[in-house]
Amino acid sequence: MSPIRCAYHPDRDALQYCNRCGKPICNDCVVRGAGGNLCRSCAEGLRRPGRPRSAQTWLWVAAGLALLLLWLLPRVLR
Ligand SMILES: [Zn+2]
Ligand SMILES: [Zn+2]
Repeated sequence: MSPIRCAYHPDRDALQYCNRCGKPICNDCVVRGAGGNLCRSCAEGLRRPGRPRSAQTWLWVAAGLALLLLWLLPRVLR
């Protein structure tokens, strides 16, 4: 009935469409999120700008705190 194939699996029927780029995708490829049904590449594109940056910020904050502790501890212990 639906000869449309998944954009990532040529051997599978596409049962959904990406809300962003309109690619036909199968149930294994659909990523459900705030934007609705997305294909993998669109879901990754949405994730990349936000999360890694905030994770990196926390890493720097943690590194700064660790350095501060290393600097403070010998002075406090003496
Ligand atoms: Zn897409
Ligand atoms: Zn697929």
